[in-house]
Amino acid sequence: MRTAARIRPKTKAELAKMRESGRIVGEVLAGVAERIKPGVTLLELDAWAEAHIRGRGATPSFKGYHGFPRSLCVSVNEEVVHGIPGKRALRDGDIVTVDCGALLDGWHGDAARTFCVGSSDPESRELLRVCEGSLMAGVAELRPQRRLGDVSKAVEAFVKRESGFAVVRQYVGHGIGRALHEEPQVPNYFEPGFPHADLMLEPGHVFAIEPMVNAGTHEVRVLEDLWTVVTADGRRSAHFEHTVAVTEDGPQVLTLP
Ligand code: MG
Ligand code: MG
Repeated sequence: MRTAARIRPKTKAELAKMRESGRIVGEVLAGVAERIKPGVTLLELDAWAEAHIRGRGATPSFKGYHGFPRSLCVSVNEEVVHGIPGKRALRDGDIVTVDCGALLDGWHGDAARTFCVGSSDPESRELLRVCEGSLMAGVAELRPQRRLGDVSKAVEAFVKRESGFAVVRQYVGHGIGRALHEEPQVPNYFEPGFPHADLMLEPGHVFAIEPMVNAGTHEVRVLEDLWTVVTADGRRSAHFEHTVAVTEDGPQVLTLP
């Protein structure tokens, strides 16, 4: 059995810095929540978010990341992740995922949330409930002496227990710090032998936990823009993410306003 390489925990001073970048991300998602309504365009949300991030002295983590052109990833309905904000206007009954990253003083925060636009159908509301619940079930495992695989198991078990929905397998959570994406990967389902599944969690470890849950199949595909990921069957998808630190006192969510 392979032994997982140790992941260096952040110091208390580093965690304090990540709390600041995380707070800005939390502010953006709270501000976006107030602005989401039928008729608003994705570009308008992106422009507001970028102005807020820069106004707080930070930089959008996503803008320019492997050439990504905007500050937010915004994904509507059957879009899973990495949607590029454009002139599309939100419509009553849509669901929309906003994913935001901010870099402050050399440290990243990363969080996402799916919102209902105006009125929404019961299945969409259930999809959001199950996805957010699975995130929090995973977050609850971020304690010293737990293993990283326990996080993956908890996310998957919550979705299976609560619904017939499917966890996306192709995209996963990640370590985060000076880089937006650091080792280790954090899958939202468990298979024995995953790299780092045996990693023993320590105070100072920081992960972005980010389940994506599809109403139908777990399978996804990438559109011609080479960014936007959609469900293979065209059914809807939700995505919730927080950047979370392991502390002696349990999990601490860093991406709150
Ligand atoms: Mg994200
Ligand atoms: Mg992320």
